[in-house]
Amino acid sequence: MQQIDHIGIAVKSLDLSLPLFEKLLNSPCYKIENVASEQVKTAFFQTGETKIELLESTAPEGVITKFIDKKGEGIHHIAFEVLDIVSEMERLKKEGFVLLNESPKEGADNKWVCFLHPKNTNGVLIELCQTKPL
Ligand code: ZN
Repeated sequence: MQQIDHIGIAVKSLDLSLPLFEKLLNSPCYKIENVASEQVKTAFFQTGETKIELLESTAPEGVITKFIDKKGEGIHHIAFEVLDIVSEMERLKKEGFVLLNESPKEGADNKWVCFLHPKNTNGVLIELCQTKPL
């Protein structure tokens, strides 16, 4: 795995959290993107090499709604950049990790993504992401 690409933070309201994080990081949100497959609206901030991704649910039964109902707002996942997501998925599967999707799916920010089940990763939801070739 390469560097941490971004940290995902579940929020109830982007309207409230976006200005909060702009103030906190002293940098503007550079992208807002709907990810239909995940039922989320995302907002990205650049902090050095790493990004912060705010996640707001767009569906009452969506994963972010469920997460916030259970745990409240806060850190939702850590995403690692990988060079070859398919081979990294195979490697992790052989190591006994449980993949939440069997093939890479379209994520935000022009990436292929795959999530690992947090039950095998000390409760931390891990995302692998690979930048799509242009
Ligand atoms: Zn993410």
